[in-house]
Amino acid sequence: MNLISKEEFYKSVTYLTCYELLHPWSKSCVKACLFMSLNTVKGGTKFFIPIYLCKIIINKNKLSKRYLLLQFRCYIRSVIYATLYATFFMTSMCTCRHLCGQFFYYNVAFLGGFFGGASIFIESEFNKTLTTVLWVNLCIETMIRYLEAYGILKPNKLFFGVSFMVSCSLMTHLMMEHDPSKKFLKLWFFTPNTTDLKQMEKVKQCFHKDSCTNYIFQGAYKYFLIGYLVQTLKTVLPRAGIILKQPLLLLQLLFRKNNFMMASFFGSFIAIFRAINCYYSGKKKPEVMGFLASTSYILKHDVTIAITSFTTTLQYLLHPLRQTLEEKYKIPYRELLFMLCNGYLMHARFLHPDQCPQYVINMLKTTTNGAAENVFRNTLKWSTNKEYVKNYFFKIKENALEKFYRKLNF
Ligand SMILES: [Zn+2]
Ligand SMILES: [Zn+2]
Repeated sequence: MNLISKEEFYKSVTYLTCYELLHPWSKSCVKACLFMSLNTVKGGTKFFIPIYLCKIIINKNKLSKRYLLLQFRCYIRSVIYATLYATFFMTSMCTCRHLCGQFFYYNVAFLGGFFGGASIFIESEFNKTLTTVLWVNLCIETMIRYLEAYGILKPNKLFFGVSFMVSCSLMTHLMMEHDPSKKFLKLWFFTPNTTDLKQMEKVKQCFHKDSCTNYIFQGAYKYFLIGYLVQTLKTVLPRAGIILKQPLLLLQLLFRKNNFMMASFFGSFIAIFRAINCYYSGKKKPEVMGFLASTSYILKHDVTIAITSFTTTLQYLLHPLRQTLEEKYKIPYRELLFMLCNGYLMHARFLHPDQCPQYVINMLKTTTNGAAENVFRNTLKWSTNKEYVKNYFFKIKENALEKFYRKLNF
């Protein structure tokens, strides 16, 4: 399960220089960091273009010269964020090695990730929240993978389905009880209109202009499209670099079954939610609505969906704590959370790659224009998990494995 076991790490890796372990392309730490930074400028420039283009297409109603200029500024800010992220990552790992005189198993990648994460301070408020919530999701996913790998948690569809239904029910309850004036960004795709629902409660009847059937179908159709878009972007964006070289791949990715299953999940969730709402005609039943709508999970067994619902529930529960820390004590709660999550994810990326979510692997590879991948491939030399190394190179190119083995003589 580990790429390098703890025993093996303290036997053969701990006293390696940072040149041997991290940047074999240059003996100088300064040159190595510069190489990483320049590559991230290249990679980051490519990585953020489709993201900002999608943002502009989604907000096409707001299109104006001022809006485009603002998006361009945000784009530049994101590229700087990515560059600082990679630079801090490399610099802190080299500095740590020079100061301590050796590498430690638990901080070799964690510290790099933690300090690299400090670059989040430069991002816009919206991106800060979005990235932090996404990173918390990815951390929970990694933890679940660990638990599964160690046999503590069995990968069971029924267990995830029931957990999702319970979490969804609690989440809907918290959403409806939450003060609508205190909005915050969530990754969950749908927030019920609490003002409309309160009106419905007063008049004891449906609060929509069309018939109930139209209201249900319109919602289902709209969210079907949103679901399709979300899943497609999730598939296409991390592969943006390959698509530029092989444009036909885009067509294949657009018609993947997965995209339509996610679309069906979104659509049916809203249809059930609205149908129950109409059935009770204004009586407040958030727990029932959330619980029954989440049966759509049958259509798309996706752990990420269950995790997103769980993270959103946590966001609601921890919202008062966040407000106290940020407003009363001026502690950058969100930024610190991101840095910790990033440290944890980098630890997983370098020492437990089997448990690291694919999104993190692809994102690092694309934004650093392959430079982070070079660092990772170099750590494979000291791997005790021969099976992993074999599969890894098999996936890239069959003859790459032969070359690699010949070089190492193992
Ligand atoms: Zn170095
Ligand atoms: Zn109705």
